[in-house]
Amino acid sequence: TKGDDFREWGGELLKWVTDYRDKCRDIHVISRVEPNYLQKGLPSSAPTTGEPWTAIMSDLDSKILPGLTHWEASNRFFAYFKPHASYPAVLGEMLCAGLNVMGFDWIASPACTELEVVTLDWLGRFLNLPEKFLGSSEGPGGGVIQGSAGESATVVLLAAAVSKQKLQPERTKMVVYVSDQTHAIAQKATMILGIRCHVVKTALENNFEMQAADLEAAIEEDVANGLCPIAAVATTGTTSSCAFDPLVPISAVCKAREMWVHVDAAYGGAYACLEAYKSKFEGLEEVDSFCVNCHKKLLCPFDIAALYVANRRPILDALSLQPEYLRNAHSESGAVVDFEHWQMPLGRRFRSLKLWFVMRRFGTEGLRHHVQNGTVLAKYFASLVEKDEDLEISVPVSLSLVCFRWKGRGEADQQRLLDAVKATGKAFIIHTKLGGKIVIRVACGGVEQTKDDVLGCYEVISRELKKLK
Ligand code: PLP
Repeated sequence: TKGDDFREWGGELLKWVTDYRDKCRDIHVISRVEPNYLQKGLPSSAPTTGEPWTAIMSDLDSKILPGLTHWEASNRFFAYFKPHASYPAVLGEMLCAGLNVMGFDWIASPACTELEVVTLDWLGRFLNLPEKFLGSSEGPGGGVIQGSAGESATVVLLAAAVSKQKLQPERTKMVVYVSDQTHAIAQKATMILGIRCHVVKTALENNFEMQAADLEAAIEEDVANGLCPIAAVATTGTTSSCAFDPLVPISAVCKAREMWVHVDAAYGGAYACLEAYKSKFEGLEEVDSFCVNCHKKLLCPFDIAALYVANRRPILDALSLQPEYLRNAHSESGAVVDFEHWQMPLGRRFRSLKLWFVMRRFGTEGLRHHVQNGTVLAKYFASLVEKDEDLEISVPVSLSLVCFRWKGRGEADQQRLLDAVKATGKAFIIHTKLGGKIVIRVACGGVEQTKDDVLGCYEVISRELKKLK
């Protein structure tokens, strides 16, 4: 409880985390505990007097470790999108807790607000975002850190709804457009806000990208039925297959109806730093908001989503309240940014520290190299799949993701293969459905993942497949 205790055990804990990452790189990647294992393994009440760290650390090893799936530490993790909590960012997270300052308005802790503005501008420039999204630009735009892509979508869709309130006072008549590949966060945001969600279908022949003509037809149908289109959510790097919705034609359709265009770039946004992906982000000049998760590809631990808006006004109109106890001269002068009005909660952590540490320790070159490395590993994995007569690639390889199937086999066999691979604990992969069919996803690109790890994953799949044949 005292500083000395913290100094000693803080050091021990850092060592524990480092050892954990080293020793769990090549062990069984998926936790095998049964439900409620901890309720059975821990006392039913908290201790009445404080316990020594030795006892707590011992339980970390014997009780907590078995219940972990090794998202970060394991090089055998190819499921979902591999997270990337680099050591500098973990230290940033620790510092954030250690300082424990609140950054809801500027005066609450000026460094917290100002570092956020500076680092989000650094990130925006690194990702080649349009000037209008930067806090230092002349216009009303800027970036803000939200907890997640889901919170970001909820905030911007709320802003879109509030700005249409005069035109259509009933929320239940407002419609947000997504595709059948859009992450569920967008639909969840519409559930929270009491707005309709119209799902536009995608197809294999268009690589599961939302087509502007289909979006337009959906909008026209709703308008004819007396509904009010307010926004569309486009995705650059969909969760299932890393497809890119075409931003230029989608924005053109939405602009004609004065609708908000939000770009969910939670995973794919990081790749905007690569020359090779520049054309995929064409049209960002036209959109209203863009969200990229620094807790996915950008080397930070959860939770840090960078949300950029072209105009902050609609968000402030939707979320600003000024109770007496928060009034202060700086806020009233209008010369400072008060991020409490850009988000749902009041309190805000000093989350920019972790991104700042990352950008300073790796530099833009290091960060770009890391993003690029995932694409190199994915191409390598795809080359192994292409050479294998039992497997076939399902959609063009995009970013660091490869989607494939067991060639010539039905759905039950795809599932058998997945289950067999999972059971080995030597590769964690998951499936999705594209066009109603199961495809197996391999998401490459951990901080220290190498070609050998990717080859290892392929060999497990190939070995299990041969056993099932
Ligand atoms: N959007 C996309 C495209 C994603 O792939 C994901 C998660 O993988 C999310 C949103 C969810 O992000 P968050 O947990 O930050 O809300």
